[in-house]
Amino acid sequence: MARKAKEIVVNPRLCKGCHICIAVCPHSVLKQTERVDNRGFFLPEVENLDACTVCHRCEMHCPDFAIKVIERK
Ligand code: SF4
Ligand code: SF4
Repeated sequence: MARKAKEIVVNPRLCKGCHICIAVCPHSVLKQTERVDNRGFFLPEVENLDACTVCHRCEMHCPDFAIKVIERK
């Protein structure tokens, strides 16, 4: 059975809005938010959780350990 994500969590204190996670995701799960945070960053948000295959590519490429993918069991 295909792996599915239960939740993708972005830590707003660690994330600096570089969007590497968006670029490396093969299934366009993430997108940039419309809202700027109080540091002037546009953080990523989940657009299509069902498309996530829990490959962990976004986690592995994030330079700030700011994103975590939790698998649905
Ligand atoms: S790669 Fe990490 S720091 Fe960059 S936008 Fe994604 S979660 Fe934030
Ligand atoms: S785990 Fe893989 S499919 Fe899911 S959001 Fe991250 S890069 Fe995309």
